Amino acid sequence: VQTLHVLGSPVLRRQAGAVRAVDDEVRRLVDDLFETMRAAKGVGLAANQIGVARRVAVVDIGEEDPPPLVLINPVILERSDETETAEEGCLSIPEIFGDVTRAARVVVEALDRDGRTLRTEASGYKARAIQHEIDHLDGVLFLDHLSAVKRNLLLSKWKKSRKGQTGYLK
Ligand code: ZN
Repeated sequence: VQTLHVLGSPVLRRQAGAVRAVDDEVRRLVDDLFETMRAAKGVGLAANQIGVARRVAVVDIGEEDPPPLVLINPVILERSDETETAEEGCLSIPEIFGDVTRAARVVVEALDRDGRTLRTEASGYKARAIQHEIDHLDGVLFLDHLSAVKRNLLLSKWKKSRKGQTGYLK
């Protein structure tokens, strides 16, 4: 289980670099992401959130089949015109939630843990989680999708909740 980086940590704003080859180091990163995500009871985690600016993320919304999703160098090939708005949170911005509008359905292509190219179609909550995690790899947080008014409100709430805490590791 790795240390989570929270809002304010510069790595969360970095554009993560592509993975060149899915080697043991990358597989270890995938395993670390799963373990850290599960320990924090999240449904997804991106490498930036544990301080690694590489294009690796995992999503597990609790389905039995298909298995949890490993996203290495993910690319969204299709986004539905239809959108959905629902409440989102983020392990890097604990206890802060906001309504985010996203594509209702996406088709994503990525390498899996074995370096194979895998295409996944997802809708609803899973599509939302995939878009949220890929945003992280581009240094984007769910707050960025909100209106300035709403974002500032949540940021002041965040600052209040952080009172007395220093550093950006959790
Ligand atoms: Zn997040």
